[in-house]
Amino acid sequence: MSDPQKHPPKVIAIANQKGGVGKTTTTINLATALTAHGKNVLILDLDPQGNASTGLGIFPDNRTRTTYDVLIDDAPLVDVSRETAVPGLMIAPATTDLSSADMELVSNSRRVFRLRSALTRLHQLPVAMDYVLIDCPPSLNLLTINAMVAADSVLVPLQSEFFALEGLSQLMLTIRQVRETANPKLRIEGVVLTMYDRRNNLSRQVEQDARDTLGDLVFHTVIPRNVRVSEAPSFSMPVLKYDPNSLGSKAYVNLADEILNRHTLVEQGAT
Ligand code: ADP
Ligand code: MG
Repeated sequence: MSDPQKHPPKVIAIANQKGGVGKTTTTINLATALTAHGKNVLILDLDPQGNASTGLGIFPDNRTRTTYDVLIDDAPLVDVSRETAVPGLMIAPATTDLSSADMELVSNSRRVFRLRSALTRLHQLPVAMDYVLIDCPPSLNLLTINAMVAADSVLVPLQSEFFALEGLSQLMLTIRQVRETANPKLRIEGVVLTMYDRRNNLSRQVEQDARDTLGDLVFHTVIPRNVRVSEAPSFSMPVLKYDPNSLGSKAYVNLADEILNRHTLVEQGAT
């Protein structure tokens, strides 16, 4: 087992304050693609809707301890995190309780550091994690701020639809504010276009605008709109397990490769 003190996991917050842009889908499937490379991955479900938990087969009546307990009651992640059907993938689930955590934290002076301090005890888990992916809620509330303060980087799914870029400046401003205050090392992992339809002019236009505006921040990989991707959660499975040969699965494998390659380059540059 690698020493978690020497090799802390890479923590990536998957964030966009718009709902329905592919945050949860990206969290589940990127995590699964990373496990295929032998990585151990922990998903933190930070959305009160708990879609990442349900999508991985952890149903509400089976969520005894959750990320709410982590944020509000200092519950250790080792007590909250659960195995999933995907080898190497664990999840700390969420329930609707989490919707009140935002309000409950307001009076806490260390409110933005709750998740970061929980992650300092990650070494209690039975295996050392290589990646922690945080599925954020569709809001720039204290939950998302906790994720950004705890993270090394933010990955932004951008739906290939009209108005996609609207709201992005607010998100970037929030990232900058977190960097200037609580977490100077916070990077932008990248922006990934989701639900992309090659036959649709609008998708191509959004891609062009995103690449013109954001340059290298936009991943080469785009995630196509693919019905297998949307079917998979109702079978409590990542699309990579439900239909590994689907275009959606292949795209998430490519996204994971792109991220792993970048991380390897960064590490080689650092030595
Ligand atoms: P968010 O977490 O940002 O709210 P989701 O990941 O839940 O977004 O995605 C919103 C909806 O779009 C879900 O029903 C999901 O199944 C569907 N969806 C996401 N990505 C794709 C895709 N590449 N192709 C088809 N449907 C998708
Ligand atoms: Mg979601």
